[in-house]
Amino acid sequence: MIPLLDRVRDDFPFLAAHEGRSYLDSAATSQRPRAVIDAETAFVETSYAAVHRGSSMATGAATVAYESARATVAAFVGARPDEIVWTENATDAINIVALGMSDAALGLGGDGARARFGLGPGDEILVTEAEHHANLLPWQRLAARTGAHLRWVPVDDRGLWGIDDLSAAVTDRTRLIAVAHVSNVTGLVAPVPEIADIARRAGALTVLDACQSVPHHPVDLPALGVDFAAFSSHKMLGPTGIGALWGRKDLLDLLPPARTGGSTITTVTMETAEFLPAPARFEAGTQPVSQAVGLAAASEYLRSLGLDAVAAHEREMTGLLVDAVAATPGVRLFGPDPGAERGPLVSFVVDGVHAHDVGQFLDDRGITVRTGHHCAQPLHRRLGVTATTRASAYVYTSPDDVARFAAALAEVRAFFGADR
Ligand code: PMP
Repeated sequence: MIPLLDRVRDDFPFLAAHEGRSYLDSAATSQRPRAVIDAETAFVETSYAAVHRGSSMATGAATVAYESARATVAAFVGARPDEIVWTENATDAINIVALGMSDAALGLGGDGARARFGLGPGDEILVTEAEHHANLLPWQRLAARTGAHLRWVPVDDRGLWGIDDLSAAVTDRTRLIAVAHVSNVTGLVAPVPEIADIARRAGALTVLDACQSVPHHPVDLPALGVDFAAFSSHKMLGPTGIGALWGRKDLLDLLPPARTGGSTITTVTMETAEFLPAPARFEAGTQPVSQAVGLAAASEYLRSLGLDAVAAHEREMTGLLVDAVAATPGVRLFGPDPGAERGPLVSFVVDGVHAHDVGQFLDDRGITVRTGHHCAQPLHRRLGVTATTRASAYVYTSPDDVARFAAALAEVRAFFGADR
């Protein structure tokens, strides 16, 4: 048994409840360790109250827990607490930036916000053809609202794109570059510091979709050089219902809040409102308090394992997964070549068998994978498929899980008569 697994498998009640099955779908949603479940339960049992309102002892204690969770998660990504905005998930975080920019273009944040964020006709937003819909649709909407053009870096037959193509797509009208740190379909790892450099020289803002990176290896968001980043709790051993938007403080303080209401303001008249600095200006309404406590416990848990150890374990498991897919006849692997760097996931198609049938077959043999377009339809269209099957690894994935997957995958084509 490898050292990390020795320590972690028993921490996950879900794995014990499904003994004999293999959960290879953590890229969609990860399981929670006992430490996260307990932290959330203890908070709900002893300290639960709404935060940042009223003067009771209960709200004071809950507010301390809520803000200290923010500090913990901020430290996890190398950030200051006031640079972390709690959101519903990563999708929400990206929408907050896009909607804020669209309001800025309307002049809602004043001249400073319009100058920094306000796109106009002829300006360009650059993404890649591989983006998750969460990092595509908000920019489509921003382009439609402002008259800006949405442009994209094309991918090749394996779903990969290169920094040279990205660099070539940048023009003097590029105002924003939004990319995934790690693709949720191909596992491609984007050269983020280089992208941030290119953007800075072009005077463009950068938004990083860090959903598939922050949970899996050490990530220092400010050091990457980007301006904004989004990640989700449920992909990093935490609860659903919460995610985070990280942004540079000066930018966050200038960005108009996408949603307005209670908890966001300093002064309100019948006609106008003045907004608090970040992060409060973005957290309208009653906040996800126990979820924040759960996410902080998840980042503490990951930190206690050591993110380098987590990454090393996942590299090993991913290598085994990729080898299993590459070794199976009649299976087409997307993303980087076997042996090359990739996030802890592998997407593939089996000749002559629909991805959903592959998923069902694997599920019947105790293996949970994800099938479909993984919220990346343009990428799948470019790959010439409507759906792929994806297997993904995390801290609790074992060599036995991969062996079970490999054995079942080897039988798929014969079972469906696709090998004849
Ligand atoms: N981006 C990427 C790369 C993802 O993998 C996901 C989740 N599949 C998202 C964005 C959206 O995350 P959420 O659904 O938690 O908002």
